[in-house]
Amino acid sequence: MAPRVLHWFRTDLRLHDAPALVKGLELKPEAFFPVWAWDPYFNFDCPVGPNRYKFLLESMKELDGKLNKMGNKLHVFRAAPTDLFPVLLKQWKITHLVYERDPAPYAIERDESIKKIAQDANVEVVDIVGHTLYDTDAVVEKHKGEPLTSAQALKSAVKGMEIPRPPQAPKEVPKADDLHLDAIKKEVKHFKPEHDVNEEHRKGKMTAYDSVTGPKDSLEPPTLAELGYDEKEATTSIPGGEDEALRRLNNWMEDKDATATFRKPQTSPSEYDPPATTQLSPYIKFGALGVREFYWRVNDVMDEYDGETSSEPENLPGQLMFREMYFAAQLGVGKAYTQIRGNKICRVIDWKLCNAYDEDGEQIIPRPKGPKEDEEMLEKWKHGNTGFPFLDAAMRQLKQEGWMHHLARHCVAGFLTRGQLYISWERGAEVFDRYLVDRDPGSNAGNWMWLSCSCFFAQYFRNYGMTTFPAKYDKSGKLVRKYCPELKDFPDKFIYKPWEAPEDVQKKAGCIIGKDYPEPMVDEKAANKECMGKMKEQYAKKQYGDSLLKRKAK
Ligand code: FAD
Repeated sequence: MAPRVLHWFRTDLRLHDAPALVKGLELKPEAFFPVWAWDPYFNFDCPVGPNRYKFLLESMKELDGKLNKMGNKLHVFRAAPTDLFPVLLKQWKITHLVYERDPAPYAIERDESIKKIAQDANVEVVDIVGHTLYDTDAVVEKHKGEPLTSAQALKSAVKGMEIPRPPQAPKEVPKADDLHLDAIKKEVKHFKPEHDVNEEHRKGKMTAYDSVTGPKDSLEPPTLAELGYDEKEATTSIPGGEDEALRRLNNWMEDKDATATFRKPQTSPSEYDPPATTQLSPYIKFGALGVREFYWRVNDVMDEYDGETSSEPENLPGQLMFREMYFAAQLGVGKAYTQIRGNKICRVIDWKLCNAYDEDGEQIIPRPKGPKEDEEMLEKWKHGNTGFPFLDAAMRQLKQEGWMHHLARHCVAGFLTRGQLYISWERGAEVFDRYLVDRDPGSNAGNWMWLSCSCFFAQYFRNYGMTTFPAKYDKSGKLVRKYCPELKDFPDKFIYKPWEAPEDVQKKAGCIIGKDYPEPMVDEKAANKECMGKMKEQYAKKQYGDSLLKRKAK
């Protein structure tokens, strides 16, 4: 029988550097069906803010337009893949189901069920690595099945493994044929997630899959309104789509000095237009940019560069290696990676506001409220009302743009956890989960563990000064003036510590501290001293998240 291919788009909303897509086309199918299934888990295992949805929808629409030009389309089904695929495979007489491999634990679980469905339907599954530089399974296997927790461990594990050059983008794709939509509509259960999506997400604006409304026979990407958000709520200026990803990449690559000598610690977290780093993370997250395309383009520039190039881990390839490391850490740990309990690489620290679990070890959702004072602290941090201007500017940028410079992420994460507030990294990661356009469970939880000294990094005595750290990069407070406009007329001298400004300076700046902008919510130094004392005690216990499971088993 001539091959009939269903290409399942998930982490690869692009045509360039798309090894799975190319593999499917190499089968020379007589019919080709590009599909997006509105999966309750894919990207939606946590609350999704409007900026991330907007970016996703723009990327989907652009891909759909490109496929339209080739006489095909992205068939967007408003149903979970486990409900949908048994029907599609049968109705479309599919012989091959092709997709790019996603090494996140929830995706692996979902894909196992899909593989079973395909097997029952006698359909061959072709899953190809392309979302990562290396095959994460092979990396973890090389590390004896254990999670990788250092750049060095990654380096050893990938020794001898090659990073393939990206394939050419296809110029044409075969057409789909009869869709049998009437039969599909009858057979597929729409809008019914197979599993219960986090109850808490259903409250307020946090609904994910369940909020997908609109005509069930539409095969178009939904609108933001159909996802429960008003267009006005999506405020990011980062546009989605492969074309923009490649435009931005080309722009960077044209600046050969900046690309070849990139050193992350020297990039300023205060720059925002354009930022001092590539801001390609949202594109990589959704696969609008192929990560191997990025890697090889950078390497080619570095190879041809006349001067001295920067080296790993600070250079651009080094940044991509951190992403690989977190994927490999996540795969080695499994589902517990995004929490403390059961997470064998994560130190147990007696943080405030940790996740709560029932007797069976299931997370209690909605989570019981913690002490009022602690919850209020978290709220101040979350909404950028701490009274520390750089931190507040960064948190407001996160909400508005869905993005924040890496070193600003360091500052705000350090402050919330081991630096000042001693609040669990789980709660901070959850806020990032919602607002970041580039949110990736491996990188987000991983970096939160790093910053809170729960894993990857142990020097809890090294801290970020909320006034001194940003001043190292920018004395004039650009980011603060942009995102905390109430402070924009303060002189440079006080921009990071406006509470020290004399009353007449505050008046002249049109902003009275304590009235128009908050006083600092804590005494930075005293809070830090207290945290460091507690961290020392907790470190001495050498307890890790899996021990919490063992204790329960006793
Ligand atoms: P660049 O400096 O231009 O780096 C190029 C690419 O390398 C990035 O696009 C990204 O894909 C990758 N990269 C760079 N640094 C890291 C890193 N530390 N970890 C993983 N990948 C990296 N990054 C995410 O992609 N998703 C997240 O959910 C995420 N959450 C984070 C949470 C915290 C608390 C912290 C401290 C960092 C987090 N990061 C996350 C990592 C990093 O901050 C962003 O990848 C980076 O700031 C994105 O900006 P850029 O594209 O300009 O990065």
